[in-house]
Amino acid sequence: MQNVHADIESVLFSEDVIRAGIARVGAAVTERFRGRDFTVVSILKGSCIFSADLIRQIPIPLELAFVSASSYGDRTTSGDLEINFFPTGEIEGRNILLVDDILDTGQTMSRLREEFLRRGASEIATCVFLDKPSRRSVELDADFRVLEVEDKFVVGYGLDFAGRYRNLPYVGVLKPEIYGARAS
Ligand code: 5GP
Repeated sequence: MQNVHADIESVLFSEDVIRAGIARVGAAVTERFRGRDFTVVSILKGSCIFSADLIRQIPIPLELAFVSASSYGDRTTSGDLEINFFPTGEIEGRNILLVDDILDTGQTMSRLREEFLRRGASEIATCVFLDKPSRRSVELDADFRVLEVEDKFVVGYGLDFAGRYRNLPYVGVLKPEIYGARAS
């Protein structure tokens, strides 16, 4: 029987480390938005698990919405971003917390940020589970980040490789033969 854990070479961030980091960021987000209405916008699919855990560490009123976007071409340059669906509710005048799984080149976050501003959002804060600052191609820093990661391709806790491994409860690196096997 296939087991996804068997494909992992090493664990970078354990469940305990992730839990502690999210509690810290949840408290910081709570302070930022205390007393103000805001909407947490989770960028699908990667941030669904992070968003679900994050909002349970924010004990103040909030709304939850989802946006889906996919990038084309080589993400290391400037692939085009297509927005597959956008929240149907009111954006104008709302305070938004944009949540993504990982801030890599920064293209996804910066383009979605522009789109929310164009649609009249009042304030936009950005929150990422992982930050890979070495790969940035646009000038953007997340307002909140749980963990910083070196320039490695990671999976788990929402992050996939070829659609798989999102269900791992930790963040890890795949065995080299897995990349080869799935790519060929
Ligand atoms: P950006 O637009 O910042 O370059 O890329 C963000 C997206 O690239 C993430 O939402 C994620 O889907 C993907 N990505 C970037 N780095 C990694 C990584 O190390 N592992 C996985 N699984 N996805 C990544």
